[in-house]
Amino acid sequence: MSHTAFQEKGQQVEAEADYVIVGSGAGGATVAAGLARGGASVIVVEAGAWRDPEHYPYSSHGSMGKLFDDWGSTIAMGRAFWPVIQARTMGGTTVINSAICVRTPGDIFEMWEKEHGVGGMDMAKSVWMAQDEVERELFVQEVPEASRGRSNNLAMQGAEALGYESHVIRRYAKGCVGSGQCLQGCRHGAKQSTNLNYIPEVRDRGNRVFSCAPVHKVVFEGKRAVGVTGWFQHPGTKKWGAKFTFRAKQAVILAASATHTPCILMRSKVKNKNLGRYFRAHPGTGIFGLYKDPVDMNVGATQGWASTHYRESPGIKLETLSIPPEMVVTRIRGGGKNLMRRLSEYRYGAMWIQAVRANSHGRVRNGPGGKPFVTYTANREDMEKFVAGIHLVAKTHFAAGARAIIPGIAGMPYTLGPDEVDKLLDAPRDPRAYVAIMSHLFGGAVMGSDPKSSVVDGRGKVHGYESLYVCDASALPTVLGVNPQHTIMGIAKLRAQQLLDA
Ligand SMILES: Cc1cc2nc3c(=O)[nH]c(=O)nc-3n(C[C@H](O)[C@H](O)[C@H](O)COP(=O)(O)OP(=O)(O)OC[C@H]3O[C@@H](n4cnc5c(N)ncnc54)[C@H](O)[C@@H]3O)c2cc1C
Ligand code: SF4
Repeated sequence: MSHTAFQEKGQQVEAEADYVIVGSGAGGATVAAGLARGGASVIVVEAGAWRDPEHYPYSSHGSMGKLFDDWGSTIAMGRAFWPVIQARTMGGTTVINSAICVRTPGDIFEMWEKEHGVGGMDMAKSVWMAQDEVERELFVQEVPEASRGRSNNLAMQGAEALGYESHVIRRYAKGCVGSGQCLQGCRHGAKQSTNLNYIPEVRDRGNRVFSCAPVHKVVFEGKRAVGVTGWFQHPGTKKWGAKFTFRAKQAVILAASATHTPCILMRSKVKNKNLGRYFRAHPGTGIFGLYKDPVDMNVGATQGWASTHYRESPGIKLETLSIPPEMVVTRIRGGGKNLMRRLSEYRYGAMWIQAVRANSHGRVRNGPGGKPFVTYTANREDMEKFVAGIHLVAKTHFAAGARAIIPGIAGMPYTLGPDEVDKLLDAPRDPRAYVAIMSHLFGGAVMGSDPKSSVVDGRGKVHGYESLYVCDASALPTVLGVNPQHTIMGIAKLRAQQLLDA
């Protein structure tokens, strides 16, 4: 039917549908499309603005301001202050991510069943079937050879030389030209983010989509969720606009991310002591390799190579990640001529990362101004994995022919040469020594059969309430050790089917 953006103060905006879905990212868009295809009417309510690829900014600075949640300024406060990165735009974090598609490993469903009383192999089979569909619909394919770029090819060579398994990444992308700009949003329209796929389909099937509409809280009649309410917010000036109220005849589905969904539930006075708890992540960091010849990591897919060989033990995932010059600066030390010389090496550098399958967990609370306040500290066991990951990335660089690496670790030399790589085994176990980020987020409204230790049940329904569901990363009770979008989408498709069948 239509898309409605920012509405000025002085009017009330109201609408009604079978389902009201909060958030348009991996979880929200997928569940909305599934319900719409099944003939239900839906309303999608998204806090961010709707931008098409030609309107994505060119620079990291621009994308942080226009596409990231609060300029990427959410910080996990703990022993270290690590940024928590996600998007606030139509399409959610699928707009700024690298589009890497990995199926949920079977051991995850077994673990969820054993430890949380949900999941199991029946769920696995349904999610995998749903993931088959997502892969067809979002054109999942390996990064084409022509768009891989030297950084990705070098990583493959390094892994082969060390004898561990690795692969070319499969991504939700069609016609990738290898511009290395996934994190700024794909201006070529190659990346199949949900603002290009499921959300337009939802609208074209006659449903309403609202952008610039951050939901303040869920509206209840007794214990039954009957809608949501909030105020439009201008994406540029941030000024508040009209009040909106969207009523749900069947259910309200929250899919506002691992940090925002728990906050909406808390603001709505949902009673559950687990709300905001068990917030988890795959904290990660990168190591630069410096090569003799130009690598030009900005040429080629942003991420085109990965290895899950060490997912079980020590519990890490390795990937390439090309970053633009303005982000490289955050990792280069020095000043004056020295800094200029180091910056001039950009063309010779390749950044590869490790992300930890961490067991540590933190907490999300409602902070001032509706901003999530996150606390999290990686424990010693996870820091051991962290160091093992850094060592492996460095070894892979040297196996691929790097002349030096820039570890970027406080207290360690600016560069290390090939015969110094084992110095990394003595790298600090203190999280404060690292420039890490948290981009794969989990938990905060976790799924489980026991209301004493979880927020939603095995079908995503909030314990103790009617017609209130969670369908995003916040419901995942553990980390995965692989990239999460496909799991979130697979479960979202399953949820849509379960609701239609109910
Ligand atoms: C830089 C980066 C790279 C990544 N790369 C990959 C990758 O390659 N592969 C992969 O599998 N995963 C990747 N991820 C992770 C993946 O994108 C997320 O796990 C996934 O998008 C989370 O889905 P979600 O539905 O929980 O939340 P999101 O996709 O973040 O969607 C939540 C939406 O809810 C909206 N929202 C928030 N609050 C409100 C409110 N109050 N009212 C209305 N709307 C609200 C937000 O604006 C947002 O649009 C990456 C993440 C980042 C940050
Ligand atoms: S590498 Fe460039 S063309 Fe390919 S998906 Fe990413 S932004 Fe789009």
